[in-house]
This record gives sequence, structure tokens and C-alpha cells, in this order.
Amino acid sequence: MPFLIRRVVSIGIASAALVTVTMSDANAQPSTRWPIHSTDRPQPRVVKPPSNTWTVAPPADATVLIGADLSRWQKEGGGAPGWKVENGYVEVVPGTGGIATRDAFGDAQLHVEWMAPLPAVGESQERGNSGVFLMGRYEVQVLDSYENKTYPDGQASAIYGQFPPLVNASRPPGEWQTYDIIFHRPRFDAAGKVTSPARFTVLHNGVLVQDNVVLSGPTAHQKRPPYEKHEDRLPLSLQDHGTKVRYRNIWIRDLEKP
Ligand code: MG
Repeated sequence: MPFLIRRVVSIGIASAALVTVTMSDANAQPSTRWPIHSTDRPQPRVVKPPSNTWTVAPPADATVLIGADLSRWQKEGGGAPGWKVENGYVEVVPGTGGIATRDAFGDAQLHVEWMAPLPAVGESQERGNSGVFLMGRYEVQVLDSYENKTYPDGQASAIYGQFPPLVNASRPPGEWQTYDIIFHRPRFDAAGKVTSPARFTVLHNGVLVQDNVVLSGPTAHQKRPPYEKHEDRLPLSLQDHGTKVRYRNIWIRDLEKP
């Protein structure tokens, strides 16, 4: 979604005086201890990941969501997806909208391979932005965060607006990167009250970046909305944020299947 960097920065500065969190306990904090998109939040240190010389083939009980085509996907809201399929990957066609799986999922193990465009164009949130949305509402951010500074809760592998990654394990644009995501959906009681919030564990290029973090609600831009009761299973979606991010070899294991 479009946004104004200047506005985000001013929010960060205005809220900074209210927050005292040390570096050492930053990772253990609930997401709401820092103002959303705070630029005062510590930048995760850079860790060079191993070079990408292999891909992770799906295990026998996985469903391959993106292999050679988009047959398991539709445009968000319905209709044929507008993204390009070529040479074993799919590429965002800016302006055509996000895509969502035809099937619905709850608790899941998800493997995603993605690539930011080369040459890199734009700064901060405008460079290689997309996103992996579990249940269409809990985003693991996709961004070209290789030598591209942005607010920490919006960089690659952040839980958008809530948790920066523990470290920045980004590869350069033009190289394939991996996310391995373990997601537990929120649970609600009959009255709609949350009995168990959503949780994420994420590895970026094989490096732990989210360690069982507990979400305050759905992810959103410049706000942290509360949970709203939803179905136990919902489609997974990928974001069109106006840049030609590529995806390949996306597979999912349903953790609620007996
Ligand atoms: Mg995004």
C-alpha cells in the first residue's frame, strides 16, 4: 500500500520519548512496546547468510502452491491472477493486485522462495516490496533489505508493524532467498475473545529471524488493529506492492491434518 515516509518518521520521533527499551531485551518485548514503524527501534545487525546453491524440495505430505503454474491461485477477491508465469517462477505484475490460494489453511509450515528485482530501484519500502500473508491478514514482510534501510518492523522477514527480524539475513537483489515459516493461527472462544494469539517462527535464508513471536492482532500499515474473530482456515495471499518480486517453489504443510 502507498505511504508517506515523512509521516512515518515524524510518528517515530514524536513517540520516542515515551519508550525506554534496551537493546538486550528488545527481542523479548511484546510488539506494542515500540511505536509502530519506529525509526528509533534498533536496526537488526546484518548476518551474511550462506550462499544460495540449493533449493528445498517439498516433503511428501506438502502441497506445492507454486510450482510451474498458478493453478492453485486466484486474484484476491476472485478472478484469474494477473501475475506472470515464466521460467519456473511467477512475477508480480504491478497493478494487477495480490493473489490468494484457492485452498484455505490454519496452522502451517510454509516454504517460500522469492527474489527482489535487479537492478534495485527505489528506497526504503519502495524497493522490492511484497508480502506473505498467512490467512490473508498476518504478514511476513518481503522487501529488498540488502543495504536498504527502512523502519525495522517493516524490513525483510519482519512481522509487519510488530516485530523486526532478530537479524538482517538478506541476500542481494537478483538472488533467490528463502523463508521457512511456522505459523499458529489465533484461537477464539464462542464470544469472539482470543484464547490463543497467532504466533510465528521464521527462518530467512536458513537463519532464525522470528522466534515464536506472539502477535497483538492482524498486521497493518501505521496501526495495530485488535483481533477479530475469523474462520479457522483462510487462504494464504501474496502482495502486489508495485514491484516485480518473483516467487518460486512455495509449498505448505498443513499442521492441523491428522
Ligand atoms: Mg509488504
